[in-house]
Amino acid sequence: MTTNQNAPNRLYLMQVGIMPEYEIPLVCYLVQTGDGRNILIDSGLPEVMPEGESEFENERDVVAQLAGIGLKADDIDTVISTHYDIDHAGRHGAFTKAHYVLQRAHHLDAATNPRYAGTRHQWDQPIERIRLVDGDTELLPGLELIETSGHVPGHQSVLVRLPKTGAILLTVDAVAFAAGFTRDEPADGGNPDAKATRVSIIKLLDLVDREHIGLVIFGHDKEQWATLKKAPEYYE
Ligand SMILES: [Zn+2]
Repeated sequence: MTTNQNAPNRLYLMQVGIMPEYEIPLVCYLVQTGDGRNILIDSGLPEVMPEGESEFENERDVVAQLAGIGLKADDIDTVISTHYDIDHAGRHGAFTKAHYVLQRAHHLDAATNPRYAGTRHQWDQPIERIRLVDGDTELLPGLELIETSGHVPGHQSVLVRLPKTGAILLTVDAVAFAAGFTRDEPADGGNPDAKATRVSIIKLLDLVDREHIGLVIFGHDKEQWATLKKAPEYYE
C-alpha cells in the first residue's frame, strides 16, 4: 500500500482490437498517478492495417477509449512499450507529447528486424523521445518494468501497485494465456526462444510469490478478460 502522491492510483484496461478467429482480445492499459500523470502501456493496432494483415481487427481504438474517460492523445506523457509487435505498437505515433519507455535490447533488435517493419513509422520516433532501459526498472514508486525476454528479445511486463487493489502484474506477451503460467515444462520445446520464455515465466511466478501479487492479468486470455473491469471502470 502506498500513499505516495506520484504513485499510481488507477489502472484502466482497454480492448482495442480482436483476433476474430480465436476471439483473442488485443488490449492496452492506462495508469494514472496521484499527481495527474497519464501513462499508457502499449497502443494497439494501427488505424489502417498493413497489406496482408488479415488476422487482426480493430475495435474501439485507443484514442477513442481515452476520449471515453476524458483524455486526449496529448494528455499521455509516457508510453510504456512492451514490444513493437503490430498489436502492441500500432498507434505509438498518435502520442506526440509522450516519451516512450523501452528495453534497450528490444529497440536495438527492432532496428534491423523485419518483424517490426510494418509499424516502424509508429515506433521509430526521435531518439530524444525514447528512454531506453536495461533490465528491471522502477519507473516511479509503484510502477515497475520487468524484463521478460522470450516472446521477443527485450519484451517487458509491468507491475502496478495500487492503493486498494495492491499489486497487479501485467504479463503482456510473456504469458499470453493463464494456462501457460505454470512451472511445468511445456510438451513442445521446439520454439527457438523456448528457453528464454521459460526463464521469464519462472521469473514472473517467483515475483508473484515474493510480492504477494493478488491479480495477474495475462496478455491475450479471452476467458480471463471477460471477468475483468474495463474502461471506463478501473482498478484503484
Ligand atoms: Zn500480443
